[in-house]
Amino acid sequence: MANSTQPRFLDYTTARTVADQFGTPVYVYDEATLKANAAAVLAFPNAFGLTARYAMKASPNAAILQIFRKAGLHIDASSGYEVRRAIAAGYDASQISLSTQELPEDFAELYEAGLEINACSLNQLERFGKACPGRSIGLRFNPGAGSGGNNRTNVGGPASSFGIWHEWIDQAQAIVAKFDLKVIRIHTHIGSGSDPSVWQKVAKMNFDLVRQFPDVTNLNLGGGYKVARMPNEVGTDLQVCGAPVAEAFRKFAEETGRQIHLEIEPGTFLLANACSVLSKVQDLVSTGDDGYEFLKLDTGMTEVLRPSIYGAQHPIFILQPEAATATQDYMIAGHCCESGDILTPAPGDPELLATRELPVTQIGDLCVIDGAGAYCSAMSTKHYNSYPEAAEVLLDTHQKPHLIRKRQEPTALWANEVAYEG
Ligand SMILES: *Cc1c(COP(=O)(O)O)cnc(C)c1O
Repeated sequence: MANSTQPRFLDYTTARTVADQFGTPVYVYDEATLKANAAAVLAFPNAFGLTARYAMKASPNAAILQIFRKAGLHIDASSGYEVRRAIAAGYDASQISLSTQELPEDFAELYEAGLEINACSLNQLERFGKACPGRSIGLRFNPGAGSGGNNRTNVGGPASSFGIWHEWIDQAQAIVAKFDLKVIRIHTHIGSGSDPSVWQKVAKMNFDLVRQFPDVTNLNLGGGYKVARMPNEVGTDLQVCGAPVAEAFRKFAEETGRQIHLEIEPGTFLLANACSVLSKVQDLVSTGDDGYEFLKLDTGMTEVLRPSIYGAQHPIFILQPEAATATQDYMIAGHCCESGDILTPAPGDPELLATRELPVTQIGDLCVIDGAGAYCSAMSTKHYNSYPEAAEVLLDTHQKPHLIRKRQEPTALWANEVAYEG
């Protein structure tokens, strides 16, 4: 598997500075990329207005939330805790919408503060109706089809528990009537990918739902826009995918007189290529002529779990003061005592291994894992083997690094434990 030739935004000098100042492993976010991605999302084609939300579960650091808040993005939260976290970072509750697998105990209080809620199951709708009769709510549906890459990333269809199954519209209507609720938003998030024809299909399925709820003013198409991390992958052109969507909104307005406001809520698109993990090569191990040359990093599934669970591919670079010209095929392993802690699985298959061709590497060389902004810091086996949480650094638009999360003190790992004097 070939890499692109160099990291997206970390050159040797910047990487060396960050490593010396903050240590490794460290997440390095690029403010210029974050801002450019926010601008691209806010330019999404629309017919009657757009609210673009950041799906903050992708990477919830307050510094990132603040950059996006200033850029004009609102928030998609996936738990009550995320709602509190976004408010703590400066968001107003009214800029946040909650679509969650677990409705928090205090949802009514958050709703009164201005939070938008999308009921994601019939039971959630019933609970909302009981607590807030006569009020407005969104409904998240599972429209019966999804386009995720595999069964771990698919978020629509009968094998996905997210949202109210599309065949239960009558039951949803009955609960709405029982509590005199007003359904103002239809929400689906099935991972629309990078194919404009899928987008068109998704828009059509959603308008079929909007038709059945006359008070709906907003249609939220979710996130799931594919991003190219590796050079052979195809990313999403939002202008191309959005054009037929805007057209569908205009058609619907002509037909029904209803001008529907569009909401989108990407996470991956905003973050994936805006962060790299900077690490060090801390060991080299050979398993002989029929085996592999393993290159072991001071990071792994504790910072970047996606390869282990999805077979996800991340570009990986070795940075050296004088780049070696000779190359070698390496298997890249993380630092956990877990055979699944491999950063170079076969594409899409975490059970199989694949090597990467890299410059001949020495212990101590810097290693950059690109495409590590979405679902990496936010979703990892943090603390496994008692490795402390890594630091996070933001490169401002002048390439100056700012610490946005300290490396965890090792004692914090056991600080909540309570002694048992048995
Ligand atoms: C996770 C999630 C998103 C964002 O998905 P990405 O693939 O990161 O773009 C958007 N909406 C909902 C409801 C989600 O759960």
